[in-house]
Amino acid sequence: MLIETHAHLDYPDFVSDFDDVLRRANEAGVTRIITIGTSIESSRRAVELAEKYDNIYAVIGVHPTVDDGSIDDVMTPLRELAKSPRVVAIGETGLDYHRLPSMAVAKEKEVQVFSALQSETEQELEADIHDGAYKARQAELFEQQLDLAVELRLNVVIHQRDAWEDTLEIMRPYGRQFSGVFHCFGGTIEQANEVISLGHLVSFTGIVTFKNGKDVRDVAAKLSLGEFMVETDCPYLAPVPFRGKRAEPAHTRLVAEEIAKARGISLDEVARATTATAEEFFRFNR
Ligand SMILES: [Zn+2]
Repeated sequence: MLIETHAHLDYPDFVSDFDDVLRRANEAGVTRIITIGTSIESSRRAVELAEKYDNIYAVIGVHPTVDDGSIDDVMTPLRELAKSPRVVAIGETGLDYHRLPSMAVAKEKEVQVFSALQSETEQELEADIHDGAYKARQAELFEQQLDLAVELRLNVVIHQRDAWEDTLEIMRPYGRQFSGVFHCFGGTIEQANEVISLGHLVSFTGIVTFKNGKDVRDVAAKLSLGEFMVETDCPYLAPVPFRGKRAEPAHTRLVAEEIAKARGISLDEVARATTATAEEFFRFNR
């Protein structure tokens, strides 16, 4: 019995064979699925799915890079959606500096001849201002969602990419008012231990099965049972042997199997521990 703790079942990728996806998950022993919202609309669809299917639960939030800048107050619509008892956490929310506006400018630079009117320094300055605004917007939405989690006594699914320090800095003042899961964890053992010592968790995707996933696999082997959960982040990051194809919740089993192998324990032990951890974190049937 496994819990898929991070799926995007509301994405169009699953429309054509949704029932087969659920059946295959069940056959693989993945008995519960957490579907994660990435925008207000996606969160609404997540809640609809969770209300329709007994074994699906919803996490609602606005992803830092899915945000289109159209809503300044995400708390109000999310608070409304959170009235559903099927909502088990807030997220995914966090910071993602992987594609800063200045990088787009830098890319353009390579292919374009510059306007002679604007000096390079001016352009860099402008890029810095754009990056600052971009980061400030992400921070604002992140804080709103953390505030809401505290208000509703829910835990938080954290998305962090290339923004480790800033993410922890924003979370720090909240102390232990909520617990966060650093989903799709790809950091070092020191980083994992740092967030675990602050009362948070990590979770692992199909990356642990990748040839170049050795570092993540080692981290998954070193942590104690109870400090991590398993997920796919489907439709992304399909584990081996499905790499490059669409991932689906059934693949959670492959993630758990790989971690069991790396730790030299049985799949059953990993399944029991990660399920207990997920049950405590998401507090189903509050
Ligand atoms: Zn995700």
